[in-house]
Amino acid sequence: MGSYTLVCPGSGKTVPDHYTLNCDCGSLIRAEYTARQLTLRNLPGMWKFYDWLPASGHTDTPGATVTYKSEGLAKELGIDLHVAFNGYWPERGADMKTCSFKELEAPPTIMRAKEHGGKAMVLASAGNTARAFAYLSTITGFPLIVVVPKQNVERLWIPGREPGEGIKLISVGGGCDYTDAINLSNRIAALPGMMPEGGAKNVARRDGMGTVMLDAAVTMKEMPDDYFQAIGSGTGGIAAWEASMRLRDDGRFGARLPRLHLAQNLPFVPMLNAWKEGRRNIIPERDMPDAKKSIAEMYSDVLSNRTPPYGVGGGVFDAMKDTDGLMYGITREEAVAAKKLFEAREGIDILPPAAVAVAALVQASEKGIQKGRKVVLNITGGGQERLMREVPVHQVEPVLEVPGPDVAMEEILKVIA
Ligand SMILES: [Zn+2]
Repeated sequence: MGSYTLVCPGSGKTVPDHYTLNCDCGSLIRAEYTARQLTLRNLPGMWKFYDWLPASGHTDTPGATVTYKSEGLAKELGIDLHVAFNGYWPERGADMKTCSFKELEAPPTIMRAKEHGGKAMVLASAGNTARAFAYLSTITGFPLIVVVPKQNVERLWIPGREPGEGIKLISVGGGCDYTDAINLSNRIAALPGMMPEGGAKNVARRDGMGTVMLDAAVTMKEMPDDYFQAIGSGTGGIAAWEASMRLRDDGRFGARLPRLHLAQNLPFVPMLNAWKEGRRNIIPERDMPDAKKSIAEMYSDVLSNRTPPYGVGGGVFDAMKDTDGLMYGITREEAVAAKKLFEAREGIDILPPAAVAVAALVQASEKGIQKGRKVVLNITGGGQERLMREVPVHQVEPVLEVPGPDVAMEEILKVIA
């Protein structure tokens, strides 16, 4: 390795990398890359951004963001718009067959875990992340234990081939949500040899997602003025901010950080509620009362996270402050209308979280986006309906179904041994 060091943004101190996810002070550790300027590499997919990814090897996977200048939606909204598309869209060269930008997190995360001696990766997911990691596990052979709420298990499929033998899917049933799945996966991750995916704390996940901003800036030859994305944990927003700081230091892509426009899906909007009151801390009773009920009412439940990295040093709050960001609350009706609008104007289907981002962009342009501002819309997932028509997919079947996160560890050990 040696192409990067880990640094705590709180203290500025260097932290040795033993697949390290935490700093004592609680801030999100960052990777600082030796290469101050980005050189595009002739490697598969997202690995063209190898210089700014925390792994010494790479995977042989074609998935990468495709940024293009919008015509249809841009004209409709009267703005200068680029779409950063993550998903399946063969005519545009988009070959992310799990159809979401989670496929940018999985490759560097699995490589980093493997290079640090991990035996298996453990993660919880409401669907799209699990699918991306399961696909990468299938390709690389790296074992994966994945915990998914029962109602989301159907989202776990592998495009174009049978699921890898190393995938152990555990379904948590009976009204459990994403946070319950996280609690169980944390218990499993404490077992020897198990590598937690680390969520927002893992530099590999954040810098993988940060390649969306890199691709946009490289395509546009400068950073955008405005960047739109839907958020559940907000990690994608943090990743975009960190990537833009690297681009600023690079010197060739502009000196001003893009303004973050982050969209939550009503009625579950804890970060929006805290942000509106200028608070760094989320107060659960106030910002997410009746969390389970609100989550059940969401249009896009993958955007639910009851413990987002919001107030933590280097987290969403800091990203929003530093970029003079704006946050949005999007209703189901707005998201549904935005999905239709995007599909009609751009000609590809999009996933619910991406529709939430489009709705935020519609809101912003109705209020008026200044002429001359360059806008990037992160379509975090798309082309899935198209893929389902063109590519055979294979369902991943659970090896175990448990009633809740407190299941006895012996039950788990039986199936993952
Ligand atoms: Zn620290």
